[in-house]
Amino acid sequence: VTVIGRRLVPSDHEVRDYLTRSAQPFEWLDADTPEAVELLRERGTPDAELPVVVDGEEVIAAATPRGLIAAWLHEQVPSQGCYDIAIVGAGPAGLAAAVYASSDGLSTLLLERDLPGGQASHTSLIENFFGFPEGIGGAELARMAGRQAESFGTELLIGRGVRGHRDEPNGTFTLDLGDGYAVSARAIVAAPGMEWRRLDVEGLDGLRDRGVYYGAGRSETTQCAGDPVVVIGAGNSAGQAVMSLAQAGARVTMLVRGDSLTKSMSGYLVDRIEAHSSIDVRLRTRLTAIDADDVGLTAVTARSDDGASERVPARALFLCLGGTPRTAWAEASRVRLDRQGFILTGPDLLDEGRRPADWQLPRDPLALETSVPGIFAAGDVRHGSAKRVAGAVGDGAMAVALVHRRLAELVDGA
Ligand SMILES: Cc1cc2nc3c(=O)[nH]c(=O)nc-3n(C[C@H](O)[C@H](O)[C@H](O)COP(=O)(O)OP(=O)(O)OC[C@H]3O[C@@H](n4cnc5c(N)ncnc54)[C@H](O)[C@@H]3O)c2cc1C
Repeated sequence: VTVIGRRLVPSDHEVRDYLTRSAQPFEWLDADTPEAVELLRERGTPDAELPVVVDGEEVIAAATPRGLIAAWLHEQVPSQGCYDIAIVGAGPAGLAAAVYASSDGLSTLLLERDLPGGQASHTSLIENFFGFPEGIGGAELARMAGRQAESFGTELLIGRGVRGHRDEPNGTFTLDLGDGYAVSARAIVAAPGMEWRRLDVEGLDGLRDRGVYYGAGRSETTQCAGDPVVVIGAGNSAGQAVMSLAQAGARVTMLVRGDSLTKSMSGYLVDRIEAHSSIDVRLRTRLTAIDADDVGLTAVTARSDDGASERVPARALFLCLGGTPRTAWAEASRVRLDRQGFILTGPDLLDEGRRPADWQLPRDPLALETSVPGIFAAGDVRHGSAKRVAGAVGDGAMAVALVHRRLAELVDGA
């Protein structure tokens, strides 16, 4: 696959980001290079609207992620009316649940509104995931997990989100998939993960994907060689972004609100950042303004806690600010949340040993079960979860073991 586009145009970035996060190898050609012009001429489409994806003989002009899904994966709709288990979200938690559910013989539907991998698809190297001593790219891990789930019989629908659901009197659920599609399931595993936290600075949104990127900007890294760039954040995702940018040859300034990196970042990353000569860490500092020209970002202004402001040159700004759980749907569904919006499950639902008032079954909620029998929560969205890939995978596997118990109950008429 070859992509022809313009580096700082948001629609072109979107396609590059989509391919990177789906672990689809591709070659990038800047639109005004002789190679790009020659390739389009050869294919008989010299004036094709950018961005253009060339896949063998096929030319997809004005490409978008949705257009690529339609061209490559065809219509994403369920093949059955009812499944044993519907999994919402194909991040690490949902993918693991799908692998275990389908390998156990359950009819399994995995629904992903974007593309598999979730947050992990944004990271170029996960170094602390069990079994990969050299590390593994998040998108690559997700691609293999998706293939594994499908090989066991999971139906994986990409670009097809869940809009809502309703409880049925017989204990099952109907999920609304949009565009008039609905599907039933005997149990649901909710694994919708987290949404990036936004920063409220004037002009930032206008430069989004044109020099300002939420997340580690994996698809941008190689384009930043030789450039000054700024990363904001102090968690592992910020640490990984800083390291991969510096390794690609960028000069990186890291802005951190707190007074230390060690509070929120793994020790191995802190050590590498401190040892790297192209990384400048500014503690107790926050972003107050950005500057841009016609092309894109030129600089940011950072203010430290002692009141001093400094203008830092920057061609790209990466915001790795962590996130908030995707649970806006929960209240209407009677799924209980903690104060921060994470889903309460199992023992966390009990109040001094008492079950929730509207809980109807003659047993306590199972370990990862929400306040609605038959709906389970897995991964980052769950109160008390580890916020790690391995934790999410563990949750996904455990949720399936508990789903079996719920399905047995349904057979017994509970
Ligand atoms: C840049 C970065 C680097 C990281 N590095 C590491 C690391 O090195 N090691 C580590 O252990 N952890 C790391 N993490 C954390 C790790 O990625 C997360 O803990 C993990 O991805 C959580 O998995 P999850 O499945 O719970 O949720 P997510 O990964 O957030 O996935 C949720 C998925 O659900 C989908 N979804 C949401 N709503 C719907 C809906 N209504 N319908 C259908 N689909 C929906 C989303 O599109 C998404 O794909 C990193 C995170 C980031 C952002």
